[in-house]
Amino acid sequence: MVRDKRVQPVLWFLGGVRTVTGSKYLVDSFGTKVLIDCGLFQGKRELRRLNWRPFTVPSDQIDAVILTHAHLDHSGYLPALVRQGYSGPVYTTPYAAKLAEIVLKDSARLLAEDADHANAHGWSRHQPALPLYTEDDVDRVLAQVQPLEHDKPADVAPNARVTLRRGGHILGSSWAELTVNGAGGPATIVSSGDLGTPVHAVLRPPEPFTGADVLLVESTYGSRSHADEATRQDFAEAITRTLDRGGSVLIPAFAVDRTEVILRTLHMLIRAGQVPAAPVYVDSPMALATLKVYQQAVASGDDELRADVIADGPVAFDPGRPCELYAHDVSGRPSQPARPSVILSASGMATGGKVLHHLRHMLPDKRNTVMIVGYAAEGTRARHLASGARAIKIHGQYVPVRAEVAVVEAFSAHADAGDVISWLIAAGAPAPRTTFVIHGESSTATALRDRIDAELGWTTVVPEFGERVLVGTREEQD
Ligand SMILES: [Zn+2]
Repeated sequence: MVRDKRVQPVLWFLGGVRTVTGSKYLVDSFGTKVLIDCGLFQGKRELRRLNWRPFTVPSDQIDAVILTHAHLDHSGYLPALVRQGYSGPVYTTPYAAKLAEIVLKDSARLLAEDADHANAHGWSRHQPALPLYTEDDVDRVLAQVQPLEHDKPADVAPNARVTLRRGGHILGSSWAELTVNGAGGPATIVSSGDLGTPVHAVLRPPEPFTGADVLLVESTYGSRSHADEATRQDFAEAITRTLDRGGSVLIPAFAVDRTEVILRTLHMLIRAGQVPAAPVYVDSPMALATLKVYQQAVASGDDELRADVIADGPVAFDPGRPCELYAHDVSGRPSQPARPSVILSASGMATGGKVLHHLRHMLPDKRNTVMIVGYAAEGTRARHLASGARAIKIHGQYVPVRAEVAVVEAFSAHADAGDVISWLIAAGAPAPRTTFVIHGESSTATALRDRIDAELGWTTVVPEFGERVLVGTREEQD
């Protein structure tokens, strides 16, 4: 059948391809434009520079934004879009909106600090250097949020209907199903967002994929498989031997979700007698704000949470001594606990934040342990420590590394390659017309593409940044 290609929906990859940051996927159907995710580019300078370009289409032409979850690489460009004039709705779940408030306000503060730093050192081309956005822009984003519960379809624009499904990645996360009308009838585009792992300590696994004409699937860990039980054992053993020798454990941890997962795991291990009870400190205002949101979800019995977490209620994230979680002085210079203890602090890769004070204090003592529990990008202090550095630079000075450094990758919030394949086939959905592998470095995206191709035989592509494709329906193939 001959079709007029001009009236087929178009899918445009504006970020989050061949990288894990800057997720932005624009669907344009008969002039209705829906943007799925609106993430900030992070990491390398070439990527970060993309944040400063005007958005690809005039922002007032966008009809709706769908936000799959609160992480900055999916939400962090929203205030910039609003600053450029976007005044339409941002559809996301209520918990994603609560976490987005914490994440975006922190982002605005960091951007303001960057601008101040640039002005103080005179290295900006702009005089004075201005932040990409401010807290006021964040407030405008929050005012534009339209809460959308999981599994409740909503007409988000003329000719565009969205349903968010449970994503199991962080609280409030979703995968998104968008249906638009093309020349060949309705076409469904599914974006996986970030997919959780079935062994998440707090959240239930993602709702299985139920089919789409076009599928976008994430590949953060597309070439890896987690060995969760073994690493959880390593985690327990490292804490136990450190406490036994009179040392303390420092865990640099991402504030959103990772802290809750670690606290929950500690709770379970202490309860099972696999780790001795010790004071646990959370030294990160952002982590504590996030913890409150998770505790609200537990109190309301939210069905994103695992049944055992809801059953434990108020003590679900309590490693045994609840007062200790909040007793710590979180002002600029954290005092060090006298007794052997476990300290969680951000940032997760030790690139900044309060964790630096703890590192400086704890690294020179060989009784202590610094535990690296997640992905550590190249060039970060966490990576240097994991690679066996004997000294690391903090606040301009080298600090000797005499403490034990334990690398325990037990707490990824992302599905690995096997998890992704299981998610794709769990509901017996037919093959999409095209599957695009997104949100992964080129090598991991390619590895996942090859695996989907080999195991499922689906037409699978790793798109290019800026690429546009027509969205056809599965029926049109015949
Ligand atoms: Zn994420």
